[in-house]
Amino acid sequence: MDIKRANARPTKLAAEANFTGQVWQDPVMVGKPPSRMRATNVSFTPGARTAWHAHPVGQTLYCVTGVGRVQLEGERVQELHPGDTAVIPPNTRHWHGAAPDRLFIHLAMSEVTDTGDGTRWFEKVSDEDYNKEPEPV
Ligand code: MN
Repeated sequence: MDIKRANARPTKLAAEANFTGQVWQDPVMVGKPPSRMRATNVSFTPGARTAWHAHPVGQTLYCVTGVGRVQLEGERVQELHPGDTAVIPPNTRHWHGAAPDRLFIHLAMSEVTDTGDGTRWFEKVSDEDYNKEPEPV
């Protein structure tokens, strides 16, 4: 059995090129073939969010704590709360992050393609897009 010990894996600051605000990443697992699974616990400070991006095999976000936001391009912003699961379809532009005044932590789960391709990154999410009123829950 391979147990990854928490204190052997320091929290990493997410790449500035693909995020707005401070975002911290804790790796959970990177599958070895034939597994294609990837899981990362991601902590967004208030107002922080990903850039627009897409996942070739989609992505599942499980909300751990705080209040978050997610938007598929062309749809309304949705608010996310602890215990919610958001399923992002394959090859669909979207972003996710914290609410403006709340911390937010989600477990991000995805798979790479059989040729190893993962997330495609695009432009950052404008304040105008980010600040749109979320759909009422
Ligand atoms: Mn995503």
